[in-house]
Amino acid sequence: MSKRRVAYSYDNDVGAFTYATTHPMKPHRMRITHDLISAYGMLEQMHVIRPKRASPEAMTAFHTDEYVNFLSRVTPETHMELTYHQTRFLTLDDNPAFEGLFEFCSMSAGGSIDAAKRLASGSADIAINWAGGLHHAKKREASGFCYINDIVLGILELLRTYARVLYVDIDCHHGDGVEEAFYTTDRVMTCSIHKHGDFFPGTGTQNDIGKGKGKGYSVNIPLQDGITDESFRSIFDPVIGKILDVYQPSVVVLQCGADSLAGDKLGCFNLTMQGHAYCVQYFRKVNLPLIMLGGGGYTVKNVARAWTYETACALGIEDTLDSNLPWTEFFDWFGPRYQLEVCGNNMVDANLKDNALDRIRTAAMKQLNDLQPAPSVGMHDVPRESVGQHLGFGKDEEEGRDALDESVAQHARLVYNLQEAELASDDSDADSHRWDSDDSMGGSTSRRRRRHPRPGKKRMSIINNQVYDIPSYENGFEYAVSGRPETRRRFFQSVARWDTRYQKVMIPGHAAQALPRAVPHSRSRSEESEDDGEEDDAGQNGVLGKRATQSDYEDDEAGSGMDE
Ligand SMILES: [Zn+2]
Repeated sequence: MSKRRVAYSYDNDVGAFTYATTHPMKPHRMRITHDLISAYGMLEQMHVIRPKRASPEAMTAFHTDEYVNFLSRVTPETHMELTYHQTRFLTLDDNPAFEGLFEFCSMSAGGSIDAAKRLASGSADIAINWAGGLHHAKKREASGFCYINDIVLGILELLRTYARVLYVDIDCHHGDGVEEAFYTTDRVMTCSIHKHGDFFPGTGTQNDIGKGKGKGYSVNIPLQDGITDESFRSIFDPVIGKILDVYQPSVVVLQCGADSLAGDKLGCFNLTMQGHAYCVQYFRKVNLPLIMLGGGGYTVKNVARAWTYETACALGIEDTLDSNLPWTEFFDWFGPRYQLEVCGNNMVDANLKDNALDRIRTAAMKQLNDLQPAPSVGMHDVPRESVGQHLGFGKDEEEGRDALDESVAQHARLVYNLQEAELASDDSDADSHRWDSDDSMGGSTSRRRRRHPRPGKKRMSIINNQVYDIPSYENGFEYAVSGRPETRRRFFQSVARWDTRYQKVMIPGHAAQALPRAVPHSRSRSEESEDDGEEDDAGQNGVLGKRATQSDYEDDEAGSGMDE
């Protein structure tokens, strides 16, 4: 097998972070993996890089300024305050605001951006970043242990050079953050192979195929518990083969989430180390520029085994590794067998029931058959604008971004509707995207009308796969005045609630008592600054006395721009 130039990113500090002592995500696994790779003598055969940490500006190529700014400021002490009691940015305990969070994100993202640059510059054939692969992070919200989406940032970097990027995700969980980011473009094809059904994040059915220009370019392979190497390969081979054939990618990004291995603490598949690494071997053989990223993986010793073995696969030396593990500082972790292997177990392969696998394969092949081969890209357009702008991420392109937000919101809405039949409100998720937005109060484009206080958004926990209601804000309310949706307001962290029964603002403990009538006051200014400052208003300046009853809103509406 011919040689490949492998670049390997590793920052010695990355293993020192702790999400929380009992948290399943252990950054320490990166250190254990690295030590094993080192003990096998692989570092000498790769270009080992300590990548530059990603700057906040680099992160805003995908994430909103507001969210990145939040991540750079939040501490365990300010966490509740800055998230409005876990109603935005970090909504569940899945994503704690741990000490050094931003540094951790900047290492993970820096490694993936660097990997992309190395391929693009031609200095490596394969670039590895085991600290990356955090595929659940959203544009303005953390999810499933992921805060900054290093994968999206890496792919954006690749799109400067390459016409078509194939993203393949073999984590046990759906690669929702990456799919969502590129849902409306044909320049990135995403293919996620994951467990689906009462399982985080709940998305990734075969009905989710992309939208607009991206229609057909999101491929989902939803599986059941206990998939074996054999079953996995029986779908991976034909589907990926067909993708390569039809899409003709110029570069491949492989997310090697290790929670699809047998015996994972959160995963439910039954892949052996060999079955998992097969995907790496497959793409090495294809011989396109390749980025290999980490991802999930919660049985730490198996994560270290698999990623060590897969590093060897990238180098093409896997057959030379001694199956007896070499001594490392963490040797004890690998007991009782001390072998470089992750074995399958005797769990039932639920995918074999009722020819489920055949049906999924057939549906995926049909989707791919319907595609136009190798969509051409107006590459000459790309240099004139940033890639983000090209795809509609551009900060300066309000319209492009609104359109993208809208389509992403529509997709999320579709998925949530499928998933949560009782979530009847057809615009709830669109609005949750919208109100989280740093530009949502800019008052530009379509804003929906709402007669009632909006129900909270729903979020699933990756830890227990339960769905939680996230209130729109803590102890507050917001609503739109009929006919003038622009005037909707929020009251963060006030104890006031809008009582639908009495049609009045209520304070707990003050039953059915209307609040003092608001004094019309600097209205237009406070409407514009719908941000952290709102909280101060609410908490200190007696906002309830300032603007609280519905009649005041009506006054607002009538007198907008006319006060003083
Ligand atoms: Zn996962």
